[in-house]
Amino acid sequence: SAEKKRKKNGPSKLTFEEIGGQDNAKQELREALDFLIRHEEISKFGIRPLKGILLTGPPGTGKTLMAKAAAHYTNSVFVAASGSEFVEMYVGVGAGRIRDLFKEARTRASKENKQSAIIFIDEIDVIGGKREGGQQREYDQTLNQLLTEMDGIYNSDTPRILLIAATNRKEMLDSALLRPGRFDRHIQVDLPDKKGRRSILELHAKNKPLHSGVNLDKIAEEAYNFSGAQLESVMNEAAIYMMRENLTQVEHRHLAMAIDKVMMGEKTDRETNQ
Ligand code: ATP
Repeated sequence: SAEKKRKKNGPSKLTFEEIGGQDNAKQELREALDFLIRHEEISKFGIRPLKGILLTGPPGTGKTLMAKAAAHYTNSVFVAASGSEFVEMYVGVGAGRIRDLFKEARTRASKENKQSAIIFIDEIDVIGGKREGGQQREYDQTLNQLLTEMDGIYNSDTPRILLIAATNRKEMLDSALLRPGRFDRHIQVDLPDKKGRRSILELHAKNKPLHSGVNLDKIAEEAYNFSGAQLESVMNEAAIYMMRENLTQVEHRHLAMAIDKVMMGEKTDRETNQ
């Protein structure tokens, strides 16, 4: 598990070019990140530094990839966690883990001689869900600790810390997280359109031998409403179909079969979840 963590938090080599589609989201994110890079200018003009960016949108659309690319773009260390890691039986454990996460970001930045750190928290709604009036939850302390850490982000000059969080359920978030000075930039990461789907398919076809008869446009059209994660799966499954037939190139029909398989798979998952 320690190894897994190290892997997750290793240096980010991922660039925005490796994220297909999402042109608007990428553009908005880069603009926000320029604030982190141009910190001297923005403080000269008395502009409040950006502390948090919230990425919202359905699962598998590339929110984690965006956060990693953000770390690469700003030459920051990347520290990642998931909201569910902070939910614990015992009061205070989750809050302690939040503290450790920020501490880790600071320590790693100074060890690696980086001026900034990006902390990514996936599934932020698990800890930052709406607090119903009077109804105290055991992990309220966790959210409070997160708010405290966010408020303290600019107490020290370096490393500069930026929090990026992701959720599929923005409407569930506590208003304390959405106030100015907290996550005050929201970026929607939607399901890709046809052009986006095509570029995602192309990215995942790069290391696979595609037959010249493959019509990726048609595949992109047929993969209607597929997420990036599903499109990655389509490419992978198609290559498996190819191997089963002892062929050395992925043909159009392998991709068409893979679309059906991924679509069916999703349906079965959903049925068994209910
Ligand atoms: P979740 O909300 O479920 O955590 P996510 O939005 O963070 O999902 P990612 O973890 O970034 O999604 O994507 C999962 C995988 O799907 C990626 O590792 C990648 O293989 C593929 N993928 C998703 N979106 C894209 C994209 N826009 N371009 C290329 N690959 C993508």
